[in-house]
Amino acid sequence: MTALLETRDVRYRYPHGPEALRGASIRIVQGSKTALVGPNGAGKSTLLLMLNGMIRPDSGEVLFEGRSLSYDARSLRELRRRVGFVFQNPDVQIIAPTVEQDVAFGPANLGLPPDGVKRAVQDALASVGLSGCEKRPPHHLSGGEKKRVAIAGILAMNPDLLVFDEPTSSLDPASSEEIMELLDELVDAGRTIVISTHDVELAYRWADTVVLMEQGMVLASGSPGDAFSDHALLRAARLKPPWVLDLYNELILRNVIERGIPPKSVLEFTDLIERNTRGHLPQDEPGRVYVCDADATGGDEIRALIGAGIVDHVGAMGSRAKEFANREVILLDFTYGVIDKCILKALIGESSLIITTGGMIDHVHRRIREYSLESGRMLAAIPLGGRREAQMSGEPIVW
Ligand code: ADP
Repeated sequence: MTALLETRDVRYRYPHGPEALRGASIRIVQGSKTALVGPNGAGKSTLLLMLNGMIRPDSGEVLFEGRSLSYDARSLRELRRRVGFVFQNPDVQIIAPTVEQDVAFGPANLGLPPDGVKRAVQDALASVGLSGCEKRPPHHLSGGEKKRVAIAGILAMNPDLLVFDEPTSSLDPASSEEIMELLDELVDAGRTIVISTHDVELAYRWADTVVLMEQGMVLASGSPGDAFSDHALLRAARLKPPWVLDLYNELILRNVIERGIPPKSVLEFTDLIERNTRGHLPQDEPGRVYVCDADATGGDEIRALIGAGIVDHVGAMGSRAKEFANREVILLDFTYGVIDKCILKALIGESSLIITTGGMIDHVHRRIREYSLESGRMLAAIPLGGRREAQMSGEPIVW
C-alpha cells in the first residue's frame, strides 16, 4: 500500500543543539492509527514537526502522497491544510477570545466565504462535542475542553491526517480516555492519525502501528503486539512492556492460556481466559445493551427504565451525552470505555443503557455487532428514542 506520508532517513540537528534525528524512516498509511513511542528526548516531537513541514530535514526526505515536500510558502500552506498539527499544550494553539473565533481562524485563512466558515466551525465543534460553546472564552474551559477546541480548529480545515504531540499529557484519566475515543471517531470518519507518546499502555491499546524510537532513530515499527513483545528492544528504548501483554505472556508460559492474538482490553482478556479455562464461552442469557440518543430522548424515559429495573447500569459517551445526564440528574456508572464495559456486564446477564449522540450511535451498534460476530455471542443493541416502533415491540434488534 502506498504511504500517505513517509519520511526517508531524515536527519536533523537543532541550531546550537543536539542531533535530534539520526536517520529516521517511517510510513504512515491512509486510515491508520500510528503511535511514535519512546522516552523523553527520543526525537518524537521533532519527527512529528517534520510531517507538516515545520522542520525541514538536514538530509533525507519527507514525502506526502508519494511526492517529496517542497518548502515554498504556497506548498507549505497546502500541506498544512491537509496535515493538521495539534500541539501538546492547547494554550499554544488557541489564540482568539472566543471558541467560535478560534476555530474560524483556519477556514477563514483558507479564504472560505463567511457561510462556508460558519459551517466549517459548526461541523468541527459538533465533531468534538462542543456545540453550544461557541461564545465561551477558551481560557474558561477545562484542560480536556481546550484540547477539543484545538482539535476543532484543525478539523475546520478538513485535513486528511492529524498529528498529535502527546495528546493526553496533563489531562486527567477520564479526559484522556475521552480524547482517545474522539481520535477513534476521527479515524472512523476516514482520517489518518499519528500521535507521539511515552505511555506504552495507551499506545498498545490504541494504535494499529507502533514506531519505537530512541536517540533520534527508529528501533522498530510494526503491530503493537510485536513491537511490545520484544523485551530486548523495549530495554533499548528504555520502556516497559504494557502490563496486559506482560500478563498474557506470563499466562502462556504457565500453560494457563494458549498463544493467539494478544488481548488489548479487559473485555478481550476476559474472553480469552474464559475460552481457555472453560473450553468454551458461557452461553447464558446475556443482558441487553440499550442505546439512546441524548438529543431525542427525555430524562423521564430513562428514569423509567432505571426505576423499573430494566437497566442495571448507565453509561454516557461524548460530552453532549454527559451534559444531558448531568442536567437530567442521571447518575452515570460508566463515562469512558463505555461500550466494552456494557458488553462485559451483558455477558454476566446485566443490562445497560448507553446515552450518546450523533454518529456515535452507529458506532455503538457497529462495535456490538462486531463483538457478536467475533465472539459468537449474540448480543442485542436495542435503540431507544428515535426508533420507537422497535422499542414498542419489545424485541431486541440484533445489528
Ligand atoms: P521527544 O519528543 O521524544 O521527547 P524531542 O524531539 O523533543 O524528543 O527532542 C529530541 C532532542 O532534541 C532532545 O535532545 C531535545 O533536547 C532536543 N531539542 C528538542 N527541541 C529543541 C529545540 N527547540 N532546540 C534545541 N534542542 C531541542
